[in-house]
Amino acid sequence: MKKRFGIDIDGTVTCPRSLIPFINKAFDMNIRYEEINQYDLTPFVNVSGEVFANWFSKNEAMIYQASPIAAGAKQALDKWKKAHELFFISARGPHLLDVTEKWFVDHGLTFHHIELIGSHDKVETIKRHSIDIFFEDKHDNAVAIHEECQIPVILFNTPYNQDPLPKGVIRVNNWKEAVIWVEDWLNQQGNSSQVSSTS
Ligand SMILES: [Mg+2]
Repeated sequence: MKKRFGIDIDGTVTCPRSLIPFINKAFDMNIRYEEINQYDLTPFVNVSGEVFANWFSKNEAMIYQASPIAAGAKQALDKWKKAHELFFISARGPHLLDVTEKWFVDHGLTFHHIELIGSHDKVETIKRHSIDIFFEDKHDNAVAIHEECQIPVILFNTPYNQDPLPKGVIRVNNWKEAVIWVEDWLNQQGNSSQVSSTS
């Protein structure tokens, strides 16, 4: 049964540690990934929020281009690319589409659609595309998407998303665990559609 997968990019398909070395170099710091216990990085840097935001917008294209892929992401996405649709939905700004598409091509990743919405609020986009399952690393996004779209959300475990989760948001440690959960979910979907088609 063909499903439409909705997938966040940063910290989900890219390694969640991607940003740290760039920040450490730019601001001569020694932040460790393990100590990043919230999504907003501003409190961890030694400059004002404004300086940090300006630095980020000047450098984000270079950072995105150089971001490593998350371990196991390619294997998982390759496994699903033929039988399902892969829709990447990201808070990156729309002006970063070229950089983003090139990164996918450079990493040999298939995509059926990429949408850069320039905002963390993905609910409307997910509803509009009738996404069946979503993959995220941002805790409040994962919870809102599950509750408002009524779909399962896979949350990739990071130091910055440790708050409790409702049933329906599934915390996994890596893409290997995500594949196991999703394959089981796909099998259940197949079984329930068989039951309803014969009844
Ligand atoms: Mg993300």
